[in-house]
Amino acid sequence: MSPPAASNDAILVADRLAVRFETAEGPVIAVDDVSFSVRPGEFLSIIGPSGCGKSTVFNVIGGLLGQHNGTVKVAGELIDGPHKSIGMVFQEESTFPWRNVTDNVAFPLELTGMAKAKRIERARHFIKMVGLDGFEKRFPGELSGGMRQRVSLARTLASEPKILLMDEPFAALDEQTRLLLGDKVLQIQQQLKQTTLLITHNITEAVQMSDRILVMTYRPGRVKRIVDIDLPRPRTSDIVGSEAFGRYVAQIWSDLREEASRGLKDEEDHMLHHEPAAS
Ligand code: ADP
Ligand code: MG
Repeated sequence: MSPPAASNDAILVADRLAVRFETAEGPVIAVDDVSFSVRPGEFLSIIGPSGCGKSTVFNVIGGLLGQHNGTVKVAGELIDGPHKSIGMVFQEESTFPWRNVTDNVAFPLELTGMAKAKRIERARHFIKMVGLDGFEKRFPGELSGGMRQRVSLARTLASEPKILLMDEPFAALDEQTRLLLGDKVLQIQQQLKQTTLLITHNITEAVQMSDRILVMTYRPGRVKRIVDIDLPRPRTSDIVGSEAFGRYVAQIWSDLREEASRGLKDEEDHMLHHEPAAS
C-alpha cells in the first residue's frame, strides 16, 4: 500500500483512489490504491502507457465518475462531483461551434451571472494570455486544432480554478504545435502560478513542464514512482536539448518501458483471443 498522501501544505490530496469496472470479459481493476498530493503552484504530471488508468484518475478528480473508492480533497474540502475549484481541459474538442472565440471563453462567466461588459473584458484578458488576440470574432470552425485547444484552455482559465486539470490536451496535435502550445502552457502557468495536474503519455512533455512526475503502472494502475524534476525555471522548449533533460527522459523511460510492454502484450493477447475463427 502506498503511504497516505496527506500533507499539510497540499492543495489537492488524492487518497487511496481505486476504480473497478465490470466489463463483458469480467471485472477490470483500472486504478488501485493511487495516492498523491499537489502543492499550491505546483505542476504535477501523471504519465503511463495507454490503458493504465490515467483518464480514470482524471475523471475521479474531476468528479465525473460515480463509482470509486478513496477520497479527493481540494484545500481540505472533500470533492464529490464536479466542482468549481477544478478546471478541466479534455483531449477531445470541447469548444462550442456556434459561439465565437469571445463567447466561448466568456461562457463559464455567463453561467455565474457576471455582467456582459465585465465578462467580455475578462474573456479578452484570457484570450490574449493564450495568444489568440485578433481572433476574438472567429468561430471554432475557422481555427486550427491547436487554436481551438487554446480557446478551451482560455475558457477553463477564465473561471480561475484552484487546480487546472488536463487530460492529454495536446495528444491530437502535430509535434510542432504540441511543443509551441506546451511553451504557452508553461508561460501561463508561471505567470498565474497556476496549480496544474497534467495527464499525458508523452515523456518529453512531462519532463519539459513538471515539477514532479508520477509514473503509473499498467493494470492495475498504481503509483510506480514519483520523480522530482529539478530543472531551472522559467523553462521553454529549448530545455529539451540539455543533458539534464536527456537524463530525466531516460530515467522515466526505463520506468515506463516495462509498463508499456505489459500493455502491448495485453493488447496482443486480447487480439489473439478475439480473432475470428477460420471457416
Ligand atoms: P488511459 O487513460 O491511461 O489510457 P483509462 O483510464 O481510459 O486509461 O482506462 C483504464 C482501463 O479501464 C482500461 O483497461 C479501460 O479499458 C478500462 N475502462 C475505462 N473506462 C471504462 C468503462 N467506463 N467501462 C469499462 N472499462 C473501462
Ligand atoms: Mg486516457
